[in-house]
Amino acid sequence: METIYDVAVIGAGPGGYIAAIRAAQLGLKTVCIDDFTDAAGKASLGGTCLNVGCIPSKALLESSENYEKAIHKFHEHGISATNVSIDVSKMLARKDGIVKQFTNGIDLLFKKNNVTQIHGRAQIVSKGDVVSIKVGGASEVIVNAKNVIIATGSQPRHMKSVPVDNEYICDNKGALSIPNTPKHLLVIGAGVIGLEMGSVWRRLGAQVTILEALPHFLTAVDEAVAKEAKKIFTKNVGLDIRLGCAVQSVTRKGKEITVTYKEDDNLKTLECDRIVVAVGRVPNSSGVGLENVGVKVDERGFIVVDNHNVSSVKNIYAIGDVVRGPMLAHKSSEEGVAVAETIAGQYGDVNLETIPWVIYTSPEIAWVGQTEQDLKADGVPYKVGKFPFVASGRAQAIGDSAGFVKMIAHATTDRILGVHIIGPYASELISEAVVAMEFGATAEDIARIVHAHPSLSEAMHEAALGIDNRYLSL
Ligand code: FAD
Ligand code: NAD
Repeated sequence: METIYDVAVIGAGPGGYIAAIRAAQLGLKTVCIDDFTDAAGKASLGGTCLNVGCIPSKALLESSENYEKAIHKFHEHGISATNVSIDVSKMLARKDGIVKQFTNGIDLLFKKNNVTQIHGRAQIVSKGDVVSIKVGGASEVIVNAKNVIIATGSQPRHMKSVPVDNEYICDNKGALSIPNTPKHLLVIGAGVIGLEMGSVWRRLGAQVTILEALPHFLTAVDEAVAKEAKKIFTKNVGLDIRLGCAVQSVTRKGKEITVTYKEDDNLKTLECDRIVVAVGRVPNSSGVGLENVGVKVDERGFIVVDNHNVSSVKNIYAIGDVVRGPMLAHKSSEEGVAVAETIAGQYGDVNLETIPWVIYTSPEIAWVGQTEQDLKADGVPYKVGKFPFVASGRAQAIGDSAGFVKMIAHATTDRILGVHIIGPYASELISEAVVAMEFGATAEDIARIVHAHPSLSEAMHEAALGIDNRYLSL
């Protein structure tokens, strides 16, 4: 007899695979369809995040940071490290090993949780109480399901004037596999990927130039953090960040690339041997068959969903990068859990106001909630507490004391509206702020909580005290 699944998930990235596992855990008969293939042409679960995104980039960031520390930091501790060298192919192999471990891990999790998996490209062909999906692959199959979760993610935005070959001119995929340190790497786009990948190759010895089209740096980030970051990335890290620069054309002769760009109406050129294009990502909403069933997309290609991720067709849901909101793995996963629970008759919800952001540069940048410039623009009265890591004993002991914690609270209710960190382990510190905001905490609540000494979290405590100008260590 023909199988009718309770849930068919299209896409096995952090949105799709988590949705499938949660749905199966809740007793729903679940299938997950994914078309990703690795460099060897084999099916590989985990989507962008595990294969060519979060995990491999963090592996390279860690390797390159260790290399840089060995050269520039160890001597401060009295450790002499001479003839330090980096074997780039070993570094890449380590990264590939970590990716494999995690992508294989999803395969095991699917088996453990009774999720059926199908490799191939899915296209929705008809709707109704049962939705039909055609899956192209080695042999074409039709999958029928009472509910569909579209989790097709996103892909890099390419520029017509900069044709990506993923050898010399790379998007995020090629950028994670450059086989040796470039002499001069040009990054187009000073966003999250540009700064993370630029940092990796800068630490390994490349000259790195970043051309950013906008006249301002990191526009989504709190202005004080963006200003500090620009200063540190330029002076300490050595990234050559040029704002207001629009690339016009690229020509390659063998290994030499000439780039022409416009800055203040002047045409300029630069020579480089690799390019990373990191100018944002576009949702994967075409080729999914949305037009066959009337699932609406907006003018930028995002699938239109309500607060519970329901599309314009009642039993078709969409989550993750293919819908509104930040393009972040944890946001995709939480939407996956919420939708699976909604389908199972429970209550699923994701608070998009408290999604943490992290940029894994050195120093790290992390934030949650509103920026000072957002609040000014909205006319919301606020107070600020700001504590520099230079006054933190733990940061000094670690030898990483650049940056600060900035807390913003409502001027009259004292409720925390945003927390912005640039500094050591910002990625870990931000969790306290997320929990506080999710529970509607005030700055005084954080100020009254005991924080371990010496720990970096004391900087959060001091920033909260600073809201009422009650700093104890400043
Ligand atoms: P994806 O992970 O894109 O997965 C979608 C899957 O669906 C893919 O496997 C795709 O092949 C498949 N698919 C698409 N169409 C079809 C179809 N028609 N049929 C079958 N399968 C289909 N986010 C973070 O939170 N932290 C980070 O540190 C971070 N680092 C990043 C670094 C880089 C270099 C990049 C590129 C991204 C990074 N991100 C990070 C973003 C993160 O990867 C995405 O937000 C996340 O992967 C989105 O998850 P998703 O499940 O929505 O989609
Ligand atoms: P981004 O949106 O972070 O940055 C793109 C940058 O390119 C922007 O500053 C933009 O102004 C600039 N730009 C756009 N067009 C340009 C042009 N023609 N010339 C020069 N600059 C141009 O995008 P991204 O860095 O490609 O990353 C995509 C998304 O992936 C991120 O927004 C984020 O959601 C996700 N991501 C997250 C992490 C993380 O969480 N640590 C890491 C990497 C990627």
